[in-house]
Amino acid sequence: MNLVSRKNLANMTLSVVILFAGSACFWSSERSSVDDPAEPAEENVNAIATNQPRSTQPVNPAKRRDEGDFIVQHLDVTSPAYQEFDRHVRSSRLLEDAAEKLNRSLSLPRDVFLRTKDCKEVNAFYDPNDRSITICYELMGHFYRIFKSAGESDEKAYDKMNDAVRFVFVHELGHALIDQYKLPVAGNEEDAADRCSAYVNLKELGEDGARAVYAAADAFAIESKQGDNSKRNLADEHLLREQRFYNSLCMIYGSDPEKHSRIVEGGYLPKERAVRCEGEFRRAVESWVSLLEPWRKA
Ligand SMILES: [Zn+2]
Repeated sequence: MNLVSRKNLANMTLSVVILFAGSACFWSSERSSVDDPAEPAEENVNAIATNQPRSTQPVNPAKRRDEGDFIVQHLDVTSPAYQEFDRHVRSSRLLEDAAEKLNRSLSLPRDVFLRTKDCKEVNAFYDPNDRSITICYELMGHFYRIFKSAGESDEKAYDKMNDAVRFVFVHELGHALIDQYKLPVAGNEEDAADRCSAYVNLKELGEDGARAVYAAADAFAIESKQGDNSKRNLADEHLLREQRFYNSLCMIYGSDPEKHSRIVEGGYLPKERAVRCEGEFRRAVESWVSLLEPWRKA
């Protein structure tokens, strides 16, 4: 599929990331899989929904030394289908722009590598062995196809593909930061990475970020309709597509309930969950702000 020729990629995912994002991947723990996206106790509900903002004082306010950089590596593309795509990513310096912005914002203990390439699988992943974030061109093509399958025009599907990949990139960045900073994760790391992406996109990237989370939610919803609740999917460390869909909507709604009221009024997110979303989003933001503070450059 020749996606590059459809439209300039200048607004693609990686160019807008400004702050922070075995292999930790985005879709399934089984990377070759292509077609595969807790309710608090009652007494805690009101506490989460109504509690005052917690302190944003950092866990460890001591600034850490900057001994690494985000470094772009352009790997050879093996599939002719993605060569034009690759040429455009290189010429538009999308990865380089993302790396530059990340390096201005965050210290690193070691170098972390940013890659796009064809992977022969639909995926994106962080590999702690070589400290690399990889976005596979196949995943971008996959997003394009599923948005097209949902009836979007070519142009709209292309735009939503870019938005969804932005969510994915910051999800993988979340894995990288958890690994490199040795951040505590008291729960499911995949969910923590999703909430990192929601935080960065909704809190730091404005309208572009909101579109990214909406696009990810759409992708989860479309894929959930495929109804693959096999044992493998149920056992996967990722939450089910349906859960990631509702969690994404909850983060969007919680980031600004008035602005995103149609999520509840339209019946997309049950009110019983929605009442807690402002508190959930605030907790995600406060947690990530606190964890990243020692590494944030002045
Ligand atoms: Zn992941």
